[in-house]
Amino acid sequence: MASLGSHWEKYSLPINDLQTSAGGVERSHVWRRAMYILVTNDDGIDAPPLLPFKQAVDQVGETIVFAPDHNWSAAGHPKTMHKPLRADPLTLPDGSPGFSSSGAPSDCVALALLGVVERRPDLIVSGINLGPNLGYDIFYSGTVAAAVEGVINGIPAIAFSSDSFESADYTGPANFAAQLIQYVASHSLPADMFLNVNFPAIPWEEVKDVAITRLGRRVYRDELVSREDPRGRSYYWIGGKPPSGVPDVGTDIWAVANGYVSITPVYLDMTAYQFREDLRRWDIRLLKG
Ligand code: MN
Repeated sequence: MASLGSHWEKYSLPINDLQTSAGGVERSHVWRRAMYILVTNDDGIDAPPLLPFKQAVDQVGETIVFAPDHNWSAAGHPKTMHKPLRADPLTLPDGSPGFSSSGAPSDCVALALLGVVERRPDLIVSGINLGPNLGYDIFYSGTVAAAVEGVINGIPAIAFSSDSFESADYTGPANFAAQLIQYVASHSLPADMFLNVNFPAIPWEEVKDVAITRLGRRVYRDELVSREDPRGRSYYWIGGKPPSGVPDVGTDIWAVANGYVSITPVYLDMTAYQFREDLRRWDIRLLKG
């Protein structure tokens, strides 16, 4: 892992350079301001990985933390429209300013972009989530939802999750996140796409490498837990064991199980393009009268 110096020195300008290089732009004059990065998560403002993550990202840009005031894990992608949302300024333990919100991670990003944060971010990063977001998890994940909210609004985004639920040393993953941000800055991401990153649940020294992956097939082992309230009415819990998955080679599930950092590029356009032809052959008719 290359060490990262101050962001002025190390954040080496390529975003604008690449976009305009056809015209022979003078490299040293193109990018003078630090990338502005919105940092959020779904485990809440007090989640242990948030601060080390933010501090690593500080090395490659200027950050603003905007995170939920409580845990929203598996809350998906709400757009809170039927109740007011709080967004309270706060000071993080390292003295930097941020916001905590009563809303979901997706609400945090939406509020920031709608003007609660004065400057429009260049990048949204979400995490580092305590627990993996692999395969179909992306449909439940608040961590991923925050990234998706960024992409919907035209801002590149990366979701970071750890296969471990334990609060451990996040130095390695956090520094990797900062490094990946620099790659994203120099290459730029296509629109309508985010990167879904998962770290394996092993000590950083034992991580083998980075694997570019596809989404695997998650297998959920949910079980219905039925109870009765004091008034005799039933209520339910969705319980059971944590999900497993099909570890096909090349999937995110396979990668983290085998000691790799998984990076999956995910398109928001989930159209099943090939299947449109099959569907046309069904000859679905409109019934009238
Ligand atoms: Mn979470």
